[in-house]
Parts: sequence; structure tokens; C-alpha cells
Amino acid sequence: ARPVVAIVGRPNVGKSTIFNRIIGDRLSIVEDKPGITRDRIYGIAEWNGKSFSIIDTGGIEIDGEDIILKSIRMQAELAIEEADVIVFMSDAKAGITQADEEVAQMLYRSGKPVIVAVNKVDNLDRAELIYEFYSYGFGDPIAVSGSHGTGIGDLLDAITTNL
Ligand code: GDP
Ligand code: MG
Repeated sequence: ARPVVAIVGRPNVGKSTIFNRIIGDRLSIVEDKPGITRDRIYGIAEWNGKSFSIIDTGGIEIDGEDIILKSIRMQAELAIEEADVIVFMSDAKAGITQADEEVAQMLYRSGKPVIVAVNKVDNLDRAELIYEFYSYGFGDPIAVSGSHGTGIGDLLDAITTNL
């Protein structure tokens, strides 16, 4: 079976945008699975000769702080169970929020390999914004921009190194 990579993070950090960048022209299949996974999108990607399934989590986000936090927790738990490698996505503009910390705590406990991706690094002026994200303790953060498509190759390199 193909290894599974899950993109995890609080709402609005850009998970779906990056997911689309990753599967973009390398897309083989995108399927909307019914039932428990109906809110998640699966794709298949290939990089450096390695093929993997990738999950975009957090499709359902309902307003109301409690519900959002519950939904983040549930999505993260499911992803942790299923994934061989986790891409933990944050937003460079927003910095580390309480919801990010919650997700980080869950990921520490999982013991799975975690790659920190910092999205919305849209230009060089923002390059220094990634340093804050070393404090998660998951290693070197990778700067990406879903808007511009930059850093995606570096992210894919990090993913396939961990497969
Ligand atoms: P998700 O909730 O984590 O899946 O986030 P989305 O992919 O839906 O993106 C949330 C918002 O952030 C949208 O308005 C996107 O257009 C915006 N966004 C995504 N990537 C970037 C980026 O690299 N730079 C900027 N400035 N905005 C982005
Ligand atoms: Mg999304």
C-alpha cells in the first residue's frame, strides 16, 4: 500500500491551497470518500520516484470557537491514526496561535514524523517569519506560499525523505 501523508493544521492556514499545489499537475486521482471521511479529500502524488496518498484535512469548519476546536482535534486525531507522515501547517502572517499549540501537542504525543510547513511566506520580506516556528521542536520549518507556489519542491523533498 502507498504511504499516507496528511496535511494537518487549524482552519485558514492554507492546507487546501497547498494540497492543490501538491497534487496539481501530478494529480492521478482525487476522490471524495463517503461516510466518515466525507469531509476529507484524498489525492495521489508522486515525487522523486515515490508515490504517496495525501489527505487534505479540515474540510468542514463550522463557526463557533468550541466547535472549531473540536473539529480540529477530531481531524488531527484521524489524520494521526492514518498517516505515516504528517505535514503540520501554520500561517507565517498569523504566527503561532493557541489552536496551533493544541495541534502541536497532539502531534508530539503521536510520535509520528512531523514536517512543519509555514505557509503565506509570499515574499522575501517575510522569510524571517519562519524562525518562530522552530519553537515547535519538530525541526526545520519549510517556508511555502500557496499563492505563489513557492517552496512546494522543498516541502515534497522533506515529505519523500520521511517516507
Ligand atoms: P485551509 O482552511 O487551511 O484549508 O486554508 P485555505 O487553503 O482554504 O486558505 C485559507 C485562506 O488563505 C484563503 O483565503 C487563501 O486564499 C489564503 N491563502 C492560502 N495560501 C496563501 C498564501 O500562500 N499566501 C496568502 N497571502 N494567502 C494564502
Ligand atoms: Mg481547507
